Amino acid sequence: MIAQNFEYTVATSLAEAVNLLQKHGGRAKILAGGHSLIPMMKLRLATPEALIDIGRIPELSYVRQDGDMVRIGALATHHVVETSGVVMRHCQALADGAGLIGDIQVRNKGTIGGSIAHADPAADYPASILAFDATIVTLGPKGERLIPASKFFVDMLTTALEANEIVREIQIPVQSGKTGSAYLKMAQKASGFAICGAAAVVELDGSGAMAKVAIGITGVGNRAFRATEAEKALKGQKPTTDLLKRACEKASSGVIALEDIHASADYRLDLARIFARRAVEAAIERA
Ligand SMILES: Cc1cc2nc3c(=O)[nH]c(=O)nc-3n(C[C@H](O)[C@H](O)[C@H](O)COP(=O)(O)OP(=O)(O)OC[C@H]3O[C@@H](n4cnc5c(N)ncnc54)[C@H](O)[C@@H]3O)c2cc1C
Repeated sequence: MIAQNFEYTVATSLAEAVNLLQKHGGRAKILAGGHSLIPMMKLRLATPEALIDIGRIPELSYVRQDGDMVRIGALATHHVVETSGVVMRHCQALADGAGLIGDIQVRNKGTIGGSIAHADPAADYPASILAFDATIVTLGPKGERLIPASKFFVDMLTTALEANEIVREIQIPVQSGKTGSAYLKMAQKASGFAICGAAAVVELDGSGAMAKVAIGITGVGNRAFRATEAEKALKGQKPTTDLLKRACEKASSGVIALEDIHASADYRLDLARIFARRAVEAAIERA
């Protein structure tokens, strides 16, 4: 199908992009890598009257460490995230996830800002963004907002972004001590999207016990979530095969799972338990 007619403007700064969004009063959309928006427009699931292309705003494409914070610009492509030394050193699970997205074309064009703003329930990043307790920095007509990851993903294709707000940066605290992280997924064969993906961040104390455990799950429910019951069962304990298995049985407690042609709800809930355990094991290996 062919997309509905639309106006196209290239924004040269973030402020200009915010002004243009305001001018169109909710009927315009930001265009970043276009790898979710353009397919939606071709299917006429999205029919914006205007596209505001932010793809050429230079100040939005970076990954850097700034003291105890990793800062990732919204326009950093999946390939940039996957291959960034800073991300690999401090938030390996995010690099794992970026490297598993779609194929090389998608990773070269798609952006982290576009992915989280789109909030596909099967997207890879949200699991790690939640597990790292990241902060999403946005810019809108009223200025900048810092949104904790736990408040950002609201529902399927729905985030805490307000109309006319743009994601400008993702901030991830540099992990302290003996910390490892990992992201693993069961991919849908054709697209690569997660039928289930799990990210784990584990900090070990001097005795080898898990001082901190965070597990994010994507692909299973309407939105990515933290496996808080499993985290509670693991925190403070020394990891053993039996403990990890028992604790991760709780990884999908209380979750209403999606059901579609790719997987039944029960299968997804089962995958959440299995991938949570595997992600925790892999994070411990890296700690
Ligand atoms: C064949 C294929 C396979 C894929 N496989 C996977 C996969 O395995 N895993 C996965 O996670 N994803 C996958 N994707 C999706 C891909 O990661 C997209 O790149 C990503 O979802 C959207 O990023 P984008 O930069 O292309 O955003 P766009 O498509 O340009 O925009 C997406 C949405 O976000 C909004 N937006 C974009 N940037 C911003 C911003 N900075 N602030 C506010 N709003 C913004 C747009 O208005 C639009 O509503 C796949 C896509 C394709 C086409």
